[in-house]
Amino acid sequence: MTTPPTAPLSDAHACDTAPLGFGSLAVHTAVPRIPGSGLGIPLHTAVAYQFESLEHGADVFATNEGYSYARLQNPTVEALEARLRALEGAAHALAVSSGQAASLTAFLSVCRAGDHIVATSSLFGGTSGLLRNVLPNFGISATLVPNSPEAVEAAWQPNTRLVWAETIGNPAGDVADLGALSSVAHAHGALLGVDNTWGGVGYLCRPLGFGADIVTHSLTKWAGGHGGTLGGAVLLREAPDLARNPIFCEGQPSLLEQRGAEALAWRVRWLGVQQCGMTLAAPAAHALAVGLETLALRLAQECRSALALAERLQAHPGVLGVQYPGLAASPHHALARKYLRGGFGAVLSFEVADPARFLSRLRLVRIAPNLGDTRSMAVHPWTTTHGRLPEEQRLAAGVSPHGIRLSVGVEDLEDLWRDLEGALG
Ligand SMILES: *Cc1c(COP(=O)(O)O)cnc(C)c1O
Repeated sequence: MTTPPTAPLSDAHACDTAPLGFGSLAVHTAVPRIPGSGLGIPLHTAVAYQFESLEHGADVFATNEGYSYARLQNPTVEALEARLRALEGAAHALAVSSGQAASLTAFLSVCRAGDHIVATSSLFGGTSGLLRNVLPNFGISATLVPNSPEAVEAAWQPNTRLVWAETIGNPAGDVADLGALSSVAHAHGALLGVDNTWGGVGYLCRPLGFGADIVTHSLTKWAGGHGGTLGGAVLLREAPDLARNPIFCEGQPSLLEQRGAEALAWRVRWLGVQQCGMTLAAPAAHALAVGLETLALRLAQECRSALALAERLQAHPGVLGVQYPGLAASPHHALARKYLRGGFGAVLSFEVADPARFLSRLRLVRIAPNLGDTRSMAVHPWTTTHGRLPEEQRLAAGVSPHGIRLSVGVEDLEDLWRDLEGALG
């Protein structure tokens, strides 16, 4: 065999000081420990890897081990995946080109034509677009229900393979009852998938520890953290129960018999990058891995500021209502206390009489549709992020024509408050 194209990943378990906390894992996982070499995650941009001989090339293609072509494997992308696994407590990770790509990969990995998904209706607009407009073209149907285990159970069909929820819904600030949702899914031999973008890659919430089988991320948001890089990921728990899903248990031999506990991980990778090419580019993987190094610092401060701003907005006479799961008055506060740690998220929503006037009077906070940037951003979901949904679906998702969504950045709290107070007038 030839020399490996990169030094082997030193995962966090190779550190002498285990078990490590979130912040330590974020900066040490996948950084090679090689005296004389650079300290950090190396960026490998080559598309093709060299073979020694016909036999070597044949071996790499037959086993899928080693490196051949960057749509399939890349050492920098693998370093990001190792970091994501460590932070989320996952057994497997696949990095892809965006959060949308991650959701699509997850859906197609466990559903085929004739299958059905039950999802909570306060989903990110792009996810509900996939479920309503894209998957039906592949013969996969979805029912969107209120965010409760009872509503999920009531929508169950014999062909339901997946329950889909978000850790914290947007803009309603509703928290998924992960334990109860996983019980419903597992009782029927189906899986629970959770879009944990708002859970900060395990900093606020680790859904896999509460019974979720699949976690997805838009790494574009808090993971990258600086509003400069698109990316996504699919993370899996160890050996999810696939014995009642025809994709995995039909055929001779079945995928489950061929791949065992790795069957879903194999299919996620095969679909996401090998067949569909939703591969994350190496420079993006590098930027996202670096972003993860300061995630805990950023998110801790953003959550503190978000809570303080939510409390002050709630007491302001110009504000009609505030949705933030950290508020004791929030209907989602009990679930937030159960499933979140280290803060209640960096996003809050509130209603004002005249949202256009409010946005036009902001001087520091930018008007932009992103989340998780170092800079605070406000947006009017009714006309932007959820603007393409029919009106009744917007209302069902908790979107109000008066609503403003605020993603809190790392600016000083008093500067942010002065800006909001000034805009409220
Ligand atoms: C932004 C976002 C997505 C989509 O991610 P992209 O990286 O923009 O494709 C999915 N889910 C949630 C919760 C998001 O906030």
